[in-house]
Amino acid sequence: MKKEKEIFKKYLVGKGLKLTSERELILEEVFSRHDHFDAEALFQAFRARSENVSRATIYRTLPLLVESGLVQEALRCGERVCYEHIYGHKSHGHMICIGCGKIIEFENKALEKIRKKVCEEYGFKPVEFRFGIKGYCKDCQKKL
Ligand SMILES: [Zn+2]
Ligand SMILES: [Zn+2]
Ligand SMILES: [Zn+2]
Repeated sequence: MKKEKEIFKKYLVGKGLKLTSERELILEEVFSRHDHFDAEALFQAFRARSENVSRATIYRTLPLLVESGLVQEALRCGERVCYEHIYGHKSHGHMICIGCGKIIEFENKALEKIRKKVCEEYGFKPVEFRFGIKGYCKDCQKKL
């Protein structure tokens, strides 16, 4: 069994839930792609393969994946909530361009340190950390 599946199953069992075939399909889809996706993109991917996973199940499963620590809500742009799998990836921040919708990922050691320090100071155990900047990318700045 893949590690992410093990983790998700363990998390679900702890909540008295089961790893249903639909939840498993969602998990597999989420880990087969390395982009920032929203619930609708998952739904369309299943539909394109004629796999029967309902929108409602996707919307209910994504928060479970987030809580299990495998997935994070990467960013919000207007009504759109984008997710990405973080298991197996370094934590990173995002810049999202309001002009063209481009998402730039970045890593920054200083930010990591601040996060650690602040959590230590307050005796806080971090589960999710999100750092996002909205603005205009280089190309879009030329058009401003
Ligand atoms: Zn990945
Ligand atoms: Zn742009
Ligand atoms: Zn990302």
